[in-house]
Amino acid sequence: MSSTTSGTQARASELRDLLNRAAHAYYVLDAPVMEDPVYDRLYRELLDLENADASLISADSPTQRVGGAPAAGFSSVRHRIGLLSLDNAFNTDELEAWYGRLLKVLDREAGTALPMVGELKIDGNALALSYENGVLVRAATRGDGEQGEEITANVRTIASVPLRLQLENPPAWLEVRGEALIPDGTFAAINSERQARGEALFANPRNACAGTLRQLDPKVVAARKLDFFAYTLHLPPDWSGGPASQWESLDWLKQAGFKVNPNAALLPDLAAVEAFFEHWDEGRRQLNYATDGVVVKLNDLRLQDAAGFTQKAPRWAIALKYPAEEAPSKLLRLSCQVGRTGVITPVAEFEPVPLAGTSVSRATLHNADRLLELDLHAGDTIVVRKAGEIIPEVVRVLPELRPAAAERLELPHTCPECGSELVREEGEAATRCVNSSCPAILRGALR
Ligand code: NAD
Repeated sequence: MSSTTSGTQARASELRDLLNRAAHAYYVLDAPVMEDPVYDRLYRELLDLENADASLISADSPTQRVGGAPAAGFSSVRHRIGLLSLDNAFNTDELEAWYGRLLKVLDREAGTALPMVGELKIDGNALALSYENGVLVRAATRGDGEQGEEITANVRTIASVPLRLQLENPPAWLEVRGEALIPDGTFAAINSERQARGEALFANPRNACAGTLRQLDPKVVAARKLDFFAYTLHLPPDWSGGPASQWESLDWLKQAGFKVNPNAALLPDLAAVEAFFEHWDEGRRQLNYATDGVVVKLNDLRLQDAAGFTQKAPRWAIALKYPAEEAPSKLLRLSCQVGRTGVITPVAEFEPVPLAGTSVSRATLHNADRLLELDLHAGDTIVVRKAGEIIPEVVRVLPELRPAAAERLELPHTCPECGSELVREEGEAATRCVNSSCPAILRGALR
């Protein structure tokens, strides 16, 4: 085996372990151990390795599975129709590549415009609702896509989930999928109550919603005032007169009494999809619930059937995500800047990552204390954050991905510019070069 192959294998297995642990914390415990964009980036790295060498794919890879196993405490139910995940695109090139693949699968000429529906990607929890003769009989979480947790009593407390449909002649059964969510204001209130009780805070509204849906006492769920937007309808195959498109499905759901997100749009081509995505990048900030992208779905249901599914996601839909403000990167070196007053600022230099629309490869570490607090080691995988105009910063390290026997990084004892001994006064955060003829200090004075 070549060293590159064994290195790649080791990396794939390292990523698999880390992502599986993170997914368990996220889906089962509702207590994530890493930021979503960090998870997404590491997931993408694993996916790229697996795409380049299929022998790296193992049955326990997170790329082969949907969500997490159903949690204990609820009985598990098998979904009549599987609930899948969505493939992601992180920029318009990836969107276009997805569309190109879709046209190919459908045997359409490159450049053909197919109508699509753009919906907001609500950052909540998918629910599967089963109705029999128009009456809600069961509600379940997505779980691993095939089996979810039965949470009917809890879902009955959500005011926007109809218990009986407004249909004259309902079919013997129908299935509705949609997103349960916790509005931002309610999320803040839940966390402040938890803080007052000394309980662990929920990381974000999606985790708070998942935790709420798994409460054993429906009264607690009722008090948290969840909301629900329906977006998928499954009717019996022999049922006639059902919708022929996703756009008609949304309308059908509305007529049947569901709350449908009002911000969906029928989009004639890819240019319209891109405009919709850009529009909501700003617009979503005015909403009182979390969104992390838009979902683009082929409108024609017959074409959806023809395109089919991959292992874990439909080929006819894609989630287009807004640029991340956090990402993992590999630390390359620690450098030091000598300021005009001699103050030494440690700077982390790392592999470039796109963040909030720019490529970032350096971040200030402020001072020796911050360096100590981060516990940086050579070759560490770090989490970097840059929000809009804000200066990039290193948020933390992922010690799970630290190379064996990595050396701990500290500030140098001597000035990188003039070589004189550095000084840190008692009670001061700053470390300084006190040599008044240090070239960095002289340059600063000149400027
Ligand atoms: P996903 O959240 O990227 O996409 C699929 C889900 O989108 C669906 O199940 C549905 O719930 C939701 N959705 C929202 N609006 C929708 C709409 N209009 N139409 C259809 N679906 C809609 O995929 P996923 O498989 O649930 O999980 C991946 C996500 O979970 C990533 O964002 C990832 O960062 C996060 N995650 C994070 C961690 C962590 O440690 N932080 C671990 C695992 C997963």
